Amino acid sequence: MKKHNFSAGPCILPQEVLQKASEALLNFNDSGLSLIEISHRSKDFVEVMDTAQSLALELLDLKGKGYKALFLQGGASMQFLMTAYNLLENKAGYLNTGTWSDKAIKEAKLFGEVVEVRSSKDKKFNYIPKNYMVPADLDYFHLTSNNTIFGTQIKEFPKTKIPMVCDMSSDIFSRKLDFSQFDLIYAGAQKNMGPAGATLVVVKEDILGKVTRQIPSMLDYKVHISKESMFNTPPVFAVYTSMLTLQWLKNLGGIEAIEEINNKKAQLLYSEIDLNPLFKGYAEKADRSNMNATFNLTDEKLKGSFDAMCKEAGINGINGHRSVGGYRASMYNALSLDSVGALVDVMSDLERNA
Ligand code: PMP
Repeated sequence: MKKHNFSAGPCILPQEVLQKASEALLNFNDSGLSLIEISHRSKDFVEVMDTAQSLALELLDLKGKGYKALFLQGGASMQFLMTAYNLLENKAGYLNTGTWSDKAIKEAKLFGEVVEVRSSKDKKFNYIPKNYMVPADLDYFHLTSNNTIFGTQIKEFPKTKIPMVCDMSSDIFSRKLDFSQFDLIYAGAQKNMGPAGATLVVVKEDILGKVTRQIPSMLDYKVHISKESMFNTPPVFAVYTSMLTLQWLKNLGGIEAIEEINNKKAQLLYSEIDLNPLFKGYAEKADRSNMNATFNLTDEKLKGSFDAMCKEAGINGINGHRSVGGYRASMYNALSLDSVGALVDVMSDLERNA
């Protein structure tokens, strides 16, 4: 039986994407060869890369606006240093909203001065700082749009003329935003796109080439742009599967359509968390993530029963991150409303039986 997969990442992908990806592993485009045993420079694979890049820009509504899409390796963690390597000459500003922002700050400090413009560390990252000023003398301002571990999400981004860099690893393609307010967006594939191994980078070309340091080729966005993401062998399976997911999303009606479903899923789960006295949400209500809902039992003694009931119902992956504890239900694009319904049923059954 297929499980209800609430895993935080790697995580659920659309069933039809898994089906097509597994077919291509055996016989890609009826070639009699596997997708992963052909040259990445073959016509068929170059077409995959072009399509994936083009779909990413199209879905974000960034086509014809000076942006390039790249599929790189090293995960979002590599982007923590690559953004700074390419963009930080003197000073960068960071909004610290959790573990991943913290890691990005640590890497950037190797390249220049870093100002933590605001942080929500004082309350264990259960909220998003607001009403702050972005200093005018920064090379760029870095944000994490969705905090996968703590379950918070930025709903309003600051208005600033400083280039904005955003780690969207855990909520890209999940909600409509004016993506042109960002100058660089990055996201590991393993949430809303595909398997781990590819990282999407969408960068506005005119912010590049402004630092004086020499940049090693593999870490230089300009090199990857000039080679159309084929400077070295790309992670072909991850790119192909990402392409399939982006096609799935486009056929569904794009970000607008998925956002409506994502809102329904989040409303259903958060209203159960708020109404059921056995549960308490972790994040401040105004800053709750529609992708990762973090919550705790109000009576830890119920943990054994709740876990057993979840297992019985085929619910997978709701344990909280090891640094936070409690529970975290991740509701990425491919998770159905029915799966959220199954979790909510277990939560209300627990209340009825308690
Ligand atoms: N940023 C965010 C918001 C994340 O959720 C993660 C991984 N869960 C990362 C960065 C790190 O990604 P990776 O493991 O691809 O380096």
